Formats: sequence, structure tokens, C-alpha cells
Amino acid sequence: MADPSSTAILTDFDGTLAPIITDPAAVRPLPGIGPTLNRLASQFGLVAVVSGRPVAFLSERLAVVDEVALVGLYGFERSGARGEVIVEPEAEKWRSVVEHAARRLKQELPADVTVESKGLTVAVHWRSVPAMAGIAAAAAERVAASTGLKAHPGRMNLELRPPMDIDKGSAVGALVPGYSAACFVGDDLGDLPAFAALDRASAAEGIFTVTIAAVDDESPPEMEAAADVVVSGPQGALDVLRWLADHAADSRR
Ligand SMILES: [Mg+2]
Repeated sequence: MADPSSTAILTDFDGTLAPIITDPAAVRPLPGIGPTLNRLASQFGLVAVVSGRPVAFLSERLAVVDEVALVGLYGFERSGARGEVIVEPEAEKWRSVVEHAARRLKQELPADVTVESKGLTVAVHWRSVPAMAGIAAAAAERVAASTGLKAHPGRMNLELRPPMDIDKGSAVGALVPGYSAACFVGDDLGDLPAFAALDRASAAEGIFTVTIAAVDDESPPEMEAAADVVVSGPQGALDVLRWLADHAADSRR
């Protein structure tokens, strides 16, 4: 494998390190994920979780060392060197707009559609009521149109984010320069820009890159089509990360 100290290990959280369940607030990583990320962080040049969740949520659920970088809200937030949360300054002016959008969605939608308010983004989830998919998505699209927020589709959800050129692609594009190899593990449409950013880094900078899709029966077909490697859900992702941790140690002997 490439020299671990010049390799970046990047991964999504939901659906990749943590099984997707009906209540997004109750999601937890697979047992073993936190210790594995900590092991990787002691071996590799960079280990980062790049997620749509707030940094505070990732920090609480993963309980990893500060050396594991946390990029939250698709790049609108990131953890600092001492675990503090750094927010993209230009995005701040959208916070009140997002709060207003979240209030409207909670008022308009039935209570069993989950409106997940995340500060600078808000997601509408219909996993507990799939029959409401059309109504929930239409309400989110309507609120997006009237607030100027941009709607992004996901697995049984739609998320409204500030209309800025910030996504997992820009986040990954900012993380990988200077490394000679990088991988990204993801499961959903929001991870495709991260895959594309690695493809660009490979073409433009000669970085050796591997894109890994963690898929299950529900995964969007685009993931498998775009990835270099396909594994089975979060357990498959954990197996890959453990393999990397085990073999980084081997390569130093
Ligand atoms: Mg995901």
C-alpha cells in the first residue's frame, strides 16, 4: 500500500459507519468504529469523517481522538485542532433562514415526518412513513424555492442547504492536496461529489485514489456505478477500515 503517513482516509458517517434507522437522532456507529478510527489516526497522514451531520453530533457519537478530523454539514462546519467547531463564515447569514425553513416544515408536515434541524441545514426524513414521500418532498421543495435554500436528495430524505459552492466535494478537495494517496467511503448521493473530487485529484495531481461505496438493497444505483470498490453496508466499511489499520502496521515492520 502507499505510505500510510502520506495517505488520507476519508469517510462518510450515516449508512457508511452507522446503520440507517428510522429515527436519525438515534443513529449510532457500529461497535468498533471509534477505536478503529483512532488506530487509523495514529498511523495515517489524515483520517477525516466527512458527514452531513453537525460536528457536535459526530463528536458525541464517535468519541474519537482530536486527531480524527470531523467535517460536518457537508463542509459548512469542521473541527479545529482542539475539537472546537469552525463554521464557514459566509454560511452564517443563512442560519436564521434555515431556522425559519425548519419551523415552516414542522408546521406543514405531519408529526411522523421527521424534520431534522441541524443549524445551517435542515433535513426532511420520511423513512417512518414512506407513503408520505411525495408530500414531504414537495413541501421541502416549496420551502426551498421560497427561502433560496437548495434542496439535495438523499436516502428517503431531502435536505435544504445554503446555496453555496460547498459540499463534500469541496471539503474533500481541500483536504487531499499534499497527500500521495486518498480514499473515500460513502453510501449516498451526497457522497458523489466526494468521489468526483478524488477523481479530479487523481487526474490533476496524480494522487492515487480509491472510491468505496458501502451499499445495501436500498442504495442509489449511482453509488455502485461511481465507485472503484463496492462493499456491503457499514460492516463492509468497518472491515475495510480495519484492514487498512492492520496493514499499515504491517508495512512499518
Ligand atoms: Mg451516508
